[in-house]
Amino acid sequence: MPRRLAAALILLCAPALGQMRLSVDAPAALQAPPASVVAAPLPSSALTAAVPIPAAASPALLSAPAAAAPAAAQAAPPAASAQSAPISPAAAKSPREGEPSLRERLRARVAFDGEGDARRDAALSDALDRMLESPTARALAERYAAQGAAATVRFEDIPGTVPTSPDGRAFFHGTRGLTHWTGDSVLVRLNSAYLDSDAHHRRQSLPAILAHELLGHGLWYSRAADENLLQAFHHHDLNEINARLVGWLVDHELDGRMEESGAWTYLRDPSAYTDNLKLRLLYYALTFSGAEMSAPMPALETRLARARERRARLESERANVRSWTPVVDYFAAEGVPEARFRDLRAELAQNDASYAADIASADEAIAGMETVLARFKAETDGASTRYLAAAAAHPMFAELQREVDERLAELRARAVEPQPQAAPAAAAASGQITFDELRRMYEQDRARHPERWR
Ligand SMILES: [Zn+2]
Repeated sequence: MPRRLAAALILLCAPALGQMRLSVDAPAALQAPPASVVAAPLPSSALTAAVPIPAAASPALLSAPAAAAPAAAQAAPPAASAQSAPISPAAAKSPREGEPSLRERLRARVAFDGEGDARRDAALSDALDRMLESPTARALAERYAAQGAAATVRFEDIPGTVPTSPDGRAFFHGTRGLTHWTGDSVLVRLNSAYLDSDAHHRRQSLPAILAHELLGHGLWYSRAADENLLQAFHHHDLNEINARLVGWLVDHELDGRMEESGAWTYLRDPSAYTDNLKLRLLYYALTFSGAEMSAPMPALETRLARARERRARLESERANVRSWTPVVDYFAAEGVPEARFRDLRAELAQNDASYAADIASADEAIAGMETVLARFKAETDGASTRYLAAAAAHPMFAELQREVDERLAELRARAVEPQPQAAPAAAAASGQITFDELRRMYEQDRARHPERWR
């Protein structure tokens, strides 16, 4: 055992498999939009007359520092009052003879930008067709066709994407999609890694992500623009929670299961899930619950402290994962055929890359919170705090909360968590050494040759 391994192996005493994260459990999934709308100063009529706010309210204070986003434009003037359509699947009607179909009416509002690439066009079209097989998606698409803003959907390369192969088939770890409010329209960016993903994974995942972005975020950005509440909506945590519930429901309706294990985490403890999201990524770090909106500064201070603790934990978990590579090297040097470590080495590398991406995201979130807290403190008249408190009381958020509650109840009623499956026996058959086996090999070797592992 080379001496230089000694330091790396200190952490080996407790390398539980639980800390080895599955590559499909994507913590960086589904980032919401960077602060593309927040740079636009809100006019004093931002809220209805019933909820007056000072003209000096300067919500631009909240805008995240480094969020690269399309240039923010002034929100469009409020459109005709948006009465929300019923959300029940019964709202989805089949077209009468000669009437445009739901798909056609939705497409009249939503442009697909395949950039002249037939493969992109086909993937967008397939995702839409599949999405519209879901009753929840159909009901929301009806509403979008009637009330949604003009939208563009396209594929884009999204930084931080890591290719994976959770079951031997190509997929990826990273943000699945993003939605931006561009000033008067919705831009949905889907991760171009879907194009290189296994067709089965794409078919399982992409329709629900499209629903999440377009029918969750996009539809409500349109509504918030109509109500002149863009800023508050952008910083309200119901923006994301609603989108997630829409995506999960659509996903479950399509095949009776949910692609994202995070859905079960949410169902077990919705508020813990939401709090955790706010520690991970810049956008969520600057969102608030209705209650937090009435006192955003202490909420942000507590959150910042927790985010720093979490970051330290990620560093030590990453070191732990990394400490297993020298163990593989050791056994390879001792004569175990290198080919038998192929999958395990790939898994370790994928885990390391996903930790690196998570740590980078955590750093971004921490820096964003620090900046915004400093701005809150520097704002002597407290205009932003008052703006958030006043906006949180707007009836639109009560309506959104009702929808979120209904979707949560529906998902709870229909979704039954699958029992964890035993690890597939494929690895043993293929001669590949699993992580559990490696750990056993390490423990046995250490018992026989303690001097090698000091
Ligand atoms: Zn989202």
